[in-house]
Amino acid sequence: MTAPSTPETAANADMQTELTDGYHLVVDALRMNDVDTVYGVVGIPITDLARLAQARGIRYIGFRHESNAGHAAAAAGYLTKKPGICLTVSAPGFLNGLVALANATTNCFPMVQISGSSERHLVDLRQGDYEEMDQLAAAQPFCKAAYRVGRVEDIGRGIARALRTAVSGRPGGVYLDIPAAVLGSIMDAEAGAKTLSRLVDPAPRQLPGPEAVDRAIELLAGAERPLVVLGKGAAYAQADDRVREFVESTGIPYIPMSMAKGLLPDDHPQSAATARSLALKKADVVMLVGARLNWLLNHGEAPQWNPDARFIQVDIEAREMDSNQPIAAPLVGDVESVLDAIAERAKPGRIAAPAAWREELAARSAQNVAKMAERLKADPHPMQFMGALKAVRDVVHQHPETYIVNEGANALDIARNVIDMHVPRHRLDSGTWGVMGIGMGYAIAAAVESGAPVVAVEGDSAFGFSGMELETICRYKLPVVTVVMNNGGVYRGDDVNPLDDAPSPTTLMLAARHDRMIEAFGGRGYRATTPAEVAAALTEALASGGPALIDCVIDPSAGTESGHIAHLNPKGITVGNITPARK
Ligand code: ADP
Repeated sequence: MTAPSTPETAANADMQTELTDGYHLVVDALRMNDVDTVYGVVGIPITDLARLAQARGIRYIGFRHESNAGHAAAAAGYLTKKPGICLTVSAPGFLNGLVALANATTNCFPMVQISGSSERHLVDLRQGDYEEMDQLAAAQPFCKAAYRVGRVEDIGRGIARALRTAVSGRPGGVYLDIPAAVLGSIMDAEAGAKTLSRLVDPAPRQLPGPEAVDRAIELLAGAERPLVVLGKGAAYAQADDRVREFVESTGIPYIPMSMAKGLLPDDHPQSAATARSLALKKADVVMLVGARLNWLLNHGEAPQWNPDARFIQVDIEAREMDSNQPIAAPLVGDVESVLDAIAERAKPGRIAAPAAWREELAARSAQNVAKMAERLKADPHPMQFMGALKAVRDVVHQHPETYIVNEGANALDIARNVIDMHVPRHRLDSGTWGVMGIGMGYAIAAAVESGAPVVAVEGDSAFGFSGMELETICRYKLPVVTVVMNNGGVYRGDDVNPLDDAPSPTTLMLAARHDRMIEAFGGRGYRATTPAEVAAALTEALASGGPALIDCVIDPSAGTESGHIAHLNPKGITVGNITPARK
């Protein structure tokens, strides 16, 4: 291992001048801007950058694949409201990280991917350098902004721009390209220090105009069946008290999008989550708070929505307005400023949800909750998703500080409904893309950033995308318990290939022992075939405070293809009608 260079060792003895280099300037710029953690995978040309960051007190978390490091940085950004940093090597490593950068941008999570790159003169003449690629051009379409630092004296400026761009306005992913030659460039230390700066007010408040606020108040005041939709933008805003005050003082029923669960506790009397269909179908004025009217909300269209509904949208991004439905009252600003402005300008009692509407939703909720309780009572064998997840829920209830990470198809749909949340920003899931592969990255970030326990509820297929990070979890001794819903397949495990005995496209190994994977790295492995065994294993695992994995053996015929979103599969003529070719 080469010792990291320091300004002292790099000093030119004759001149008695202190020197610095690109590595030091990157680390100093990050520290100056309160970056305390970097997620990454080392290699040429950034290995010494990671070493130096660690030597200077930045926590470095080393992963096994850049996608997972990137997902961790994105989740860290969401949880802390500060850009998460992901460090990648050139070309292939950079490309691996790009999936996470694009996903972060789609989810509006602030992150910066810093990547080393090849020498510009070789790249630009396509001379075939080691891992040669025009990374700046490649990153551009997949992130909020991409920047390259071309001179060592621009490192401070590049980092400042990247951090501010990631976190201001609508948050997102930023790519920062630093060629190897810039990292290795040397300059006078005093002059170098002067090139660095600390950001002032990196994510300024954005206040809505008074006329926009009054327009929204008028609409809400005249509503017969108002509804608030809380999205992950509202959770991200960390304006938890304002959200609660607004909801409770107006009495308006609300539904939380999946990552906004817990912003108000799921058992809040105004939650209409358990009467969601009725709420959408009948609401006449809908106020979206940090939630987009995208596919996850059926684009605001009938028949799921009342075709006469009028929309108010609170969003920091003006361009989001009218993207799906006409927005009758746009409120462009950050959630906190907007809700403050409404509280200031609405006379007490001016906005009040009519009792009849609240009662109608409450009655439907009570019916649906009773139906769900019946379903949860059943304890069939072999174990079904519902039974295993109810066991998880009951244990997690005793540890309210636990973060839940959740991905899969059925594992996602069912866990979202069964595991209720009581604390803001404690649920991280597949998000806007419904992406698979975020599991271990998000779990690691949640544990690293909070120190609290994390339970990652994973479909067996989803888990496979990031499973090797079990080694990372064990290496850093993180309090992450991975719960694999193992039904032996993508969606389900009983699909058959009609032609021969090769596995069908959705088949995985039914007999897979995921519990043994974590044992290989020194973690605790459990195999559970009943809800009681799931509960016992999870209780013990959480009490241990260390890495564990519970492989839950689920009925291979449990689960539906594509979960709740099967309708998104194009129909064609083949669906359900595939005949095998003759041999
Ligand atoms: P969900 O999937 O939970 O419905 P989305 O990701 O679709 O949520 O929407 C989040 C929205 O929140 C984005 O349109 C984003 O611009 C917005 N947003 C992010 N941060 C803030 C903030 N501080 N204030 C207001 N809006 C925000």
